[in-house]
Amino acid sequence: MAPQAQAAAAGNSVPKVLVIGAGAAGLVAALELSREGLDVTVYEQTEEVGGLWVYTPETESEPLGVDPQRRHVHSSMYRDLRTNLPREIMGYLDFPFLPKRGRDERRYPGCEEVKLYLKDFAEHYNLMRFIEFGVKVHYVGVKRGEANAYSENRDLKWIVRTSKVGANQVGEEIFDTVVICIGHFFQPRVISIPGAERWPGLHMHSHNYRIPEPFQDKVVVIIGNSKSGGDISKELIHVAKEVHICARNWPADNLSVSEAGPRKNTWHHPLVELACEDGTVKFQDGKSTKADVIMQCTGYLYDFQFLDTQGLISVEDGRVAPLYKHVFVPALAPSLSFVGLPSKILPFPLFQAQAKWIAKVLTGKVKLPSQSAMMADVEKYYLDLEAKGVPRHETLGLELETFEYVNWMLHECGERQMNSWRRDIFLTTTLSKLAYPFDYREVWDDQELLDIANASLLELSENLGIEGTQGSGMSYANHFSCIV
Ligand SMILES: Cc1cc2nc3c(=O)[nH]c(=O)nc-3n(C[C@H](O)[C@H](O)[C@H](O)COP(=O)(O)OP(=O)(O)OC[C@H]3O[C@@H](n4cnc5c(N)ncnc54)[C@H](O)[C@@H]3O)c2cc1C
Repeated sequence: MAPQAQAAAAGNSVPKVLVIGAGAAGLVAALELSREGLDVTVYEQTEEVGGLWVYTPETESEPLGVDPQRRHVHSSMYRDLRTNLPREIMGYLDFPFLPKRGRDERRYPGCEEVKLYLKDFAEHYNLMRFIEFGVKVHYVGVKRGEANAYSENRDLKWIVRTSKVGANQVGEEIFDTVVICIGHFFQPRVISIPGAERWPGLHMHSHNYRIPEPFQDKVVVIIGNSKSGGDISKELIHVAKEVHICARNWPADNLSVSEAGPRKNTWHHPLVELACEDGTVKFQDGKSTKADVIMQCTGYLYDFQFLDTQGLISVEDGRVAPLYKHVFVPALAPSLSFVGLPSKILPFPLFQAQAKWIAKVLTGKVKLPSQSAMMADVEKYYLDLEAKGVPRHETLGLELETFEYVNWMLHECGERQMNSWRRDIFLTTTLSKLAYPFDYREVWDDQELLDIANASLLELSENLGIEGTQGSGMSYANHFSCIV
């Protein structure tokens, strides 16, 4: 008998869990929660699964993303984006992301292929039955005084207000627990640029970048050289007249030089000192250029505007606090949780480990420490970061700690540890990106590891009975160029 039916037969009501968002995090949350027999509903504001991976040419009505009244677009995806992780380590822990014949078979595929993978995942596990599309959550607030046998906070439930997108229909419902899976790449983080209000060019954020064509023959100033800044500037150098990339952290000998790009039209600078009314942009290195576009590739803010916890959680300078293991708010645990907040991670496997842990905690199979012990753990974590000199806004940046973190959660759930080849390939990929910033998606030197990963994933796909992957699973090895 299914756990849900078992609970019903025993006269226990099954906890009603709301998952907000049907991106990579929300989908795997729905799977793991339903595997544990919980009564799952997913509200997704768009009409498709995949979240950020659903490319849309639509952009926001205000290109910098600072006007709260602007028309919002969730996805920051650009048309030609290819993954920055190889597919074999990017996929969920137990649903292989192997190439499929007739689709994008590259080791670092484009965004459409990731969307299709997520769709395959949702279909394989029949997750669509849980999802209500076109439902936007506007308000999630604490409702005290209602018995909730599934929360340590036994008098706590959640009021959830929604609207049906495109209709004048509003709804209100009560849930026992809420799992927030809304992503954190939709609210632009913008830095202030002196003079920008009078500068006449296009001032935008990478959230509203879609394709390179509109930048043909333009002079573009890019602020930021992290993932988006790096990727977008590599797209623009093929079409723009000049690309000036500004960052705080260029090595001294890397400043103001023309980069070895295909068109030698790229310059590195420190930050912008002043944007002038005549279109000139002055850099802090004393250089200047007349520019057409300033594009801020400055990242995103965590944004939970709909969440009313009466001050029990705050978002300040990139820190969402207090959060036990980046998932539970101690004073509200376990009835409120977050999947997918950490950054600099292996996203899909980490989401799955978090989702498994949340599901097991909600069913009581895994116990959380007491509220005070969780708070003490969080405070110690913040003190340790401070002692290591990690800035506050890096609180959720895990990097190599990702692997320890995922394995800790899997251990708590009594599940086997993540395959070690994921970590090994993550490391070889990191080195490859440094060695071949322009080509790391086309050339690699970790074929042995890739073979181990593929063998393991093919076995898994056979066990799952997934069609279409076998045989073509190795095909991207044909594109392999060995660097020795
Ligand atoms: C440009 C870019 C490139 C990236 N490249 C990679 C990569 O190569 N590999 C990798 O592993 N990761 C990559 N990432 C990280 C990426 O964030 C994760 O892979 C992952 O897709 C995030 O999933 P998510 O479910 O947390 O968020 P999202 O994909 O953003 O999904 C959130 C969902 O919640 C819905 N939602 C939001 N608010 C509401 C609301 N109020 N009501 C109802 N629904 C709501 C949204 O519509 C959306 O469908 C990249 C990120 C960016 C920004």
